[in-house]
Amino acid sequence: MLYKRSSTLFSEAEKVIPGGVNSPVRAFKSVGGTPIFIKKAFKAYLIDEDDNQYIDYINSWGPMILGHAHKPVVDAVIEKTKLGTSFGTPTEIETKIAQLAVSMVPNIDKIRFVNSGTEACMSAVRLARGFTGKDKIVKFAGCYHGHSDSFLIQAGSGAVTLGVPNSPGVTKGTAQDTLLTRYNDIDHVKQVIEANKDEVACVILEPVAGNMGCIPPKTGFLEELRSLCDTNNILLIFDEVMTGFRLAKGGAQELYGIAADLVCFGKVIGGGLPVGAFAGREEIMNYLAPLGPVYQAGTLSGNPLAMAAGLAMLTELNNDREIYKRLADKTAYLHKGIAGVLDKHQILHTINRVGSMISIHFSKNEVVDFESATEGNNERFKAFFQGMLKEGVYIAPSAFETWFITDALTYEDLDKTIEACNKVCKLL
Ligand SMILES: *Cc1c(COP(=O)(O)O)cnc(C)c1O
Repeated sequence: MLYKRSSTLFSEAEKVIPGGVNSPVRAFKSVGGTPIFIKKAFKAYLIDEDDNQYIDYINSWGPMILGHAHKPVVDAVIEKTKLGTSFGTPTEIETKIAQLAVSMVPNIDKIRFVNSGTEACMSAVRLARGFTGKDKIVKFAGCYHGHSDSFLIQAGSGAVTLGVPNSPGVTKGTAQDTLLTRYNDIDHVKQVIEANKDEVACVILEPVAGNMGCIPPKTGFLEELRSLCDTNNILLIFDEVMTGFRLAKGGAQELYGIAADLVCFGKVIGGGLPVGAFAGREEIMNYLAPLGPVYQAGTLSGNPLAMAAGLAMLTELNNDREIYKRLADKTAYLHKGIAGVLDKHQILHTINRVGSMISIHFSKNEVVDFESATEGNNERFKAFFQGMLKEGVYIAPSAFETWFITDALTYEDLDKTIEACNKVCKLL
């Protein structure tokens, strides 16, 4: 494949945009090579500036669950645009999407819309602190909740799980209020909470982790977290930015039958426009301004175009009784095909899958937390990524990302993907 125009565009971009990209993972730093500039997309396919076509498994990192340029979503945005793009006043469509979201997702009475998943998680944590009157938060290593200061934390050295900043610009003071624990390790969470008795406002996690590859919660893990939070007067926050409206209409809460106190959304809820949201029980949500004391705001929050895209997307998902089964079936088919190929070529691997989230780890060990996720063979992943790209299959340019399956993928696309995998694995 030729990437001539992409290379030129990237050099131009680098002069005026740091690293040439507006979000780091797009820069291909962990896989090498030059990022590919996409011109347009339809259904399950991306077309780049050099007119190469790819089967897409990034899908804008999740939102395009029904495929690219999905007609009901595109039409809704075009129609709304003609009426003006932003007013800074309440609009009817905000209530409509709120009603629909509240009817689809269990355990939420009210929802507040923001512009990104980052904002949703940042605001949910502020609300949890305000509501409980406590300062510390518990997060899990390898879970991603956007780039607000409280979450850019890594494990400190020593036995004490005090967080330290993992980016310059995050203060030690902020880091001290974030306690880091191990995913799927309930005893570790218990220890951390015990050591910070009456100081923890909330535990926040991805109920199915998707930002260290796909890692499902172990049986009982979410239940035990729920009861641990109840015992200690701690709010449980499910960050469903990735899993919300993807694993089920009601996200992971519905799939696992666990009630969170606050839930964060992003990605699918915006249908490909910049939208995030957080939601919860009335007593907690009423703590937000203007009803309550916890401040939170946004000039473009609830923007009509974004709400139109989101409403069209959620309406489609709500009306299609078979959608989640179709998605899970396609993902299972891909899993079986790829596992067969990897076995045939005797390539060590672990494949994790939940619903329409799947990831391949080039490691023979079970992948259950951040530590085990980092044991994968990264050189092999790089070669795999580059090989698949040459074969016209676009997976995320990082070993720590989930593949997102969309309903637009046909079984023919899946077969082509498995065959591409076969060709690439011969050379690994
Ligand atoms: C993508 C993601 C975020 C951040 O959302 P942005 O819209 O990129 O700010 C937060 N949490 C999870 C689980 C995510 O996958």
